[in-house]
Amino acid sequence: MEKFYYSVSIPVPIRKDFTYFSNEKIKSGSRVKVLFNKRKVVGVVCKQTTKPVFKTTEIEELLDETPTFDSLALKTLNWISDFYIHSRGEVFSNFLPPKLRKDFYYENPETKLKEYKVNDDDKRFSLTSNQQRAFKFLNKLDGFDPCLFHGVTSSGKTEVYMRLVEEALKKGGSCLLLIPEISLTPQLEQRFKKRFGENIGTYHSKKTSKERFETWKKSKSGELRVLIGTRSSLFVPLQKLSLIIIDEEHDASFKQQEGLKFSAKDVAIKMAQDRKIPIILASATPSLKMLHLVDKGKYKFISIPKRVNDKNPPKFSILNSHFLDRKAGIDTNLLSLIDKTISKDKKVLIFINRRGYSPVFKCTDCNWTAMCNSCNSRLVYHKDSARLRCHRCDTSFGVPHSCPECESTKLTSEGVGTQKIESFLNEEFPSVPMVRLDLDSTRKKGSLERLLSEISDTKKAFLIGTQMIAKGHDFSDVELGIVIDADLGLVSHEVNAVEKLSQLLIQVTGRVGRSGKSKIIVQSNLLDNEYLNVLSSGDYLEFSKHLLKEYEAANLPPFSSVAILRASSPNKTSNVNFLNKARKYLEKETNCECIGPLPDIISKVRGNFRHSLLLKAKTLPTLHKNTKNLVEGYIEKQKRLKVRWSVDFNPIDYQ
Ligand code: ADP
Ligand code: ZN
Ligand code: ZN
Repeated sequence: MEKFYYSVSIPVPIRKDFTYFSNEKIKSGSRVKVLFNKRKVVGVVCKQTTKPVFKTTEIEELLDETPTFDSLALKTLNWISDFYIHSRGEVFSNFLPPKLRKDFYYENPETKLKEYKVNDDDKRFSLTSNQQRAFKFLNKLDGFDPCLFHGVTSSGKTEVYMRLVEEALKKGGSCLLLIPEISLTPQLEQRFKKRFGENIGTYHSKKTSKERFETWKKSKSGELRVLIGTRSSLFVPLQKLSLIIIDEEHDASFKQQEGLKFSAKDVAIKMAQDRKIPIILASATPSLKMLHLVDKGKYKFISIPKRVNDKNPPKFSILNSHFLDRKAGIDTNLLSLIDKTISKDKKVLIFINRRGYSPVFKCTDCNWTAMCNSCNSRLVYHKDSARLRCHRCDTSFGVPHSCPECESTKLTSEGVGTQKIESFLNEEFPSVPMVRLDLDSTRKKGSLERLLSEISDTKKAFLIGTQMIAKGHDFSDVELGIVIDADLGLVSHEVNAVEKLSQLLIQVTGRVGRSGKSKIIVQSNLLDNEYLNVLSSGDYLEFSKHLLKEYEAANLPPFSSVAILRASSPNKTSNVNFLNKARKYLEKETNCECIGPLPDIISKVRGNFRHSLLLKAKTLPTLHKNTKNLVEGYIEKQKRLKVRWSVDFNPIDYQ
């Protein structure tokens, strides 16, 4: 009997495929059950190969009626494995729904593109002239044609997406709308559902494994023609994908920080290129990288400079918080302004980028501070659960009654988080409805939707939240916004801190003020900070020009490319030795600069120390080539490495 040989990618952290044989012909992209190190595992057939010299085992079972990944998906997935220097098997597994990572036979549904429906009643308004112009421009994109779509907050971008999606469906295609985080979905999803009904599916990691598989099947069969999803949805098999839109393209959550450190944005762009389809990257606060690509003429650009209702987002004023008399972080002078706003039946939004009650829990006698056992990170006091919690590893501890060092009972919490502001305002304004949006209040499934609907019917209310509150929600009647401790970002050592902070502040102004009378007050210690002053005009594009000039002068990304080689182990010396050797190896190359090794800002997580070596080169291809040489020529040749290592291209937070 004729035997066929296949390279099978297996989800283990080894960058190589394994050869198996079968008596049947198997198409690339199919899942198979194979024996690997005496375990039965699910792998994906990568390609047919020739008979090797060594002995091979037989594929136990073919698990797909038709391949799970078609040839176009495989092309992009192979690129991911190569670009991120990551095991192909793990790449495949990263993008499979949990059910398909298991060994069961998947009978593919018959594929038939479902008729699309548009609820025309839902198009209550005609497009503004600005929307019309943007729509026409974007609808003309053809083939691989990346375009940055800037539109100030509430300029009606979402409405433009819906019209574009409708056009794509008319022409027989399907669309992928990528969103950064699930916290955005309830409102966006509702708007799309209202317009497109049954044609819409959603996919993200808060869905159950069963729900995700249902969406996968319905996409594959052509029943779903529009998918709204987070980075895990990239390879949900839509039939005839013809348009990709990335909403809030500046958002850091498109980058996966654990395991496969990929950027969903970069992958989506590659995907559009492989499929020769347009991709639209939209934001009110575009990333410097995209703006730079537009400057270089590589990406197209269209902008809506005004809100739908012509009332532009409020400028912000800066309040020197150095000498302020503060209660729960809020300047006491602002209390009367808060009171006034609430008595006008309007909402007040308070933004602080810290969850919990207080970031510090300490002894006033001996200065002992509560720290996590396994991370060098302070424990945050959570009053609502009466626990001390580590925000790195999520371990929580009981609140001690006396100091573990000196047995004093004078224990106290210091500093402000969302919960403290919540309980303070609750005391001051007991009858005013209040919603707190942060990771803790939205952990449970459906809680975000519940919180959002609680305030959608009320007029006066307090909205308190972390960056979660700045993201895309459509709140009505917010007339006052207060930003507490904005400086946290400016004094940070992270290279792109200013970019991130400015995006955040502009996004906060976007949640406020549809009435024209609204105000944003930013409490800051750095009153003279030139960034804050340029930014306070609210003109993000103008601001970004200044910032780009500075980054160019300092030769920072996007004017250069960086990657991080990270080492993690219980032993500091092992980390440093490993990285020093890597540095020596790289220094044979003249066109790649190394900085470090340095301990990470959070230098210990879950009992492991973390150190990094920053690699920098003029262009991405140079950086990539050098890094790959390092991995293949040095790291992967080491026997018995004492550290765990990873490479992160275009990291989002580094010093
Ligand atoms: P963006 O996505 O740019 O923040 P949205 O699409 O959410 O803006 O639009 C902001 C608000 O304006 C929404 O409530 C939307 O229903 C409304 N809107 C959008 N387009 C129009 C229009 N052409 N006429 C009137 N209202 C509109
Ligand atoms: Zn003490
Ligand atoms: Zn910890």
